[in-house]
Amino acid sequence: RFISFEGIDGSGKSTQARLLAEALRGQGREVVLTREPGGSPGAEEIRRLVLEGDPGRWSPETEILLFTAARRDHLERTIRPALTRGAVVISDRFADSTRMYQGSFRANLRPLVDELHRLMIGVEPDLTLILDADPSSSLSRGLARQSGEDRFENMGLAMQEALREGFRALAAAEPRCALIDAAGTPEAVAARIAAAVQARLGA
Ligand code: ATP
Ligand code: C5P
Repeated sequence: RFISFEGIDGSGKSTQARLLAEALRGQGREVVLTREPGGSPGAEEIRRLVLEGDPGRWSPETEILLFTAARRDHLERTIRPALTRGAVVISDRFADSTRMYQGSFRANLRPLVDELHRLMIGVEPDLTLILDADPSSSLSRGLARQSGEDRFENMGLAMQEALREGFRALAAAEPRCALIDAAGTPEAVAARIAAAVQARLGA
């Protein structure tokens, strides 16, 4: 089983991916918890190339190629081997992030995102949990976290609001997606996720 978490920055993906991994491990399952961009040694190197430096370091097209290259390595080295041996794979972001972040602000580039996905990736998660969060509270969570800044942070509330709408539309359009209300305590959100996983995957 392959499960991905998606949603805007600070919506709680990393927290909930970890809680779901712990819950499934508690049921005796092998779980590989991974993330994008990154998730394999080569893809983590590409992550640094993509996230560090000036905002204008890469052209939009090159950036899409780098995200796709990282995903291909992540798939080859981490995701496929884990699925083959029967583990549950939980990825904090996957291809939907590229569709939303790289493909929706520049609508003319969405065909490039889709074509590269078709040629180089070709798989979708069995279940995608989309955390639906209010951008201003997500932003304040992010500020509280004071994490390592990357060049995509501070993209602004209007862009986060547009991304949220994009993720909501994706959830409505794709049967593999479940929209999860991300408000409340981590435990409350985890309970909604556990119910969705039970309903969709019977696990
Ligand atoms: P990003 O995409 O920016 O990496 P994320 O979606 O993975 O973010 P997290 O890293 O899980 O989000 O959470 C962001 C911050 O909010 C962290 O400091 C985390 O501890 C906190 N947080 C997560 N879930 C909740 C919650 N339900 N209530 C309050 N704070 C939360
Ligand atoms: O989720 P995480 O915090 O690891 O993502 C790192 C940064 O990369 C975030 O600021 C996110 O907005 C950005 N990102 C992006 N395009 C993607 C995936 C992540 O711009 N496809």
